[in-house]
Amino acid sequence: MNEDLINFIWRFRLFRQKTLLTSRNEPIEIISPGFYNSHAGPDFTDVKVRIGSTTWIGSAEIHIRASDWERHGHSGDKAYNNVILHVVYENDLRMLRADGTEPSVFVIKPYIPENIQEHYLQLIRNMNWIPCEKQLSRVDPIYVEDCLQRMLIERMEEKSEQVAELLNRNQGDWSETFYILLCRTFGFKLNVLPFELLARSLPMRILERHRDSLFQLEALLFGQAGFLEEPASDEYILSLQEEYRYLRHKYSLTPIESYLWKYLRLRPQNFPAVRLAQFASLIHRSPHLFSRILETREPVALRKLFEGISMSSYWQNHNKPGKESAKIAAGLGRESVNNILINTVSVALYSYGKYTDNSHFFSRSICLLESIPAETNRIVLKYREIGVKSMSADSSQALLQLKKKYCDQKKCVNCAVGARIINSA
Ligand code: SF4
Repeated sequence: MNEDLINFIWRFRLFRQKTLLTSRNEPIEIISPGFYNSHAGPDFTDVKVRIGSTTWIGSAEIHIRASDWERHGHSGDKAYNNVILHVVYENDLRMLRADGTEPSVFVIKPYIPENIQEHYLQLIRNMNWIPCEKQLSRVDPIYVEDCLQRMLIERMEEKSEQVAELLNRNQGDWSETFYILLCRTFGFKLNVLPFELLARSLPMRILERHRDSLFQLEALLFGQAGFLEEPASDEYILSLQEEYRYLRHKYSLTPIESYLWKYLRLRPQNFPAVRLAQFASLIHRSPHLFSRILETREPVALRKLFEGISMSSYWQNHNKPGKESAKIAAGLGRESVNNILINTVSVALYSYGKYTDNSHFFSRSICLLESIPAETNRIVLKYREIGVKSMSADSSQALLQLKKKYCDQKKCVNCAVGARIINSA
């Protein structure tokens, strides 16, 4: 037995409802189990029960053992003085509230139907890729859909909290915040850290001042990335170095360490230098990018902001400074644009909607995700194999959240699919 399961049983009233008794053998009727509280304080608020002939309204606290009340420090916590019911699996000790009074105790164990506990144990003891792997395809799609919608919103909320922190660090400057988010995404997993450090070392306002010159943008970005520290092996790198020396002095810049950049298992067209050159080109041709994103309503038009960028000719056959290579595509591929739209643009729109309390931006963020094909990573493909197909990025993003935050942690009682399986006849 664990607390999550008792919570679940209480929340959905899955215990037998007739002839209930408190630990003092008084008749108790649960008129309303209340609302689950995921923040600090008692587990459920607005609980309504009738004990004997008295109706009580207040909070309920759930524990495996009554003595957990003491272990969790509620005895001295005034926030628990309004607990009208202590719901426990085992009543091992008499507990008092901070004001010295005793809450009524309801021992739920005798009222839990056997099949609920059995289904739960069968589910979470499963050692498959995810606990419900064998049952998932039999669950009514309505519950799967419900689960995925919740996961998507939860994911967007989590990401928007991170954006809010970043925005705070940037004193409310959305343009700078978006620039850092975009840089992170240009790191394409392996180089997220150096790209972010680069962005922090080189404020957007400096890049904006040199936006008209792709050459100067490259000098700033490659110089700050630490790629212009070695002796130059060709004319173009030599000229970038000279330009960077001047700009570095002008803005008192300090480059990041070049050893931070990673190449492991990267294809040459994804090498950091290529991504930097593409980024320079994007800044060059996109003045006030964040404002344009806010103004651009249609997903197709948003996509166009990132398609068709063209790196300077040097980087179309060099994948490192001074190192000639086979021809490299000048712009971002479709997958890369999708990645930017999913991980930067939709997140920024959602976060901006939250910041300005404007639901219009939430809708645009979700519509954008719905317009992008589902990602095809290992997790999404595996869910497809066991019966959950995702057609667009909204559901593939939801699946990533489900796997990481619920399936991997066996939080099946907190997921609509798990609730359905546990509660099946
Ligand atoms: S969390 Fe939900 S989807 Fe994941 S394994 Fe449990 S029941 Fe299945």
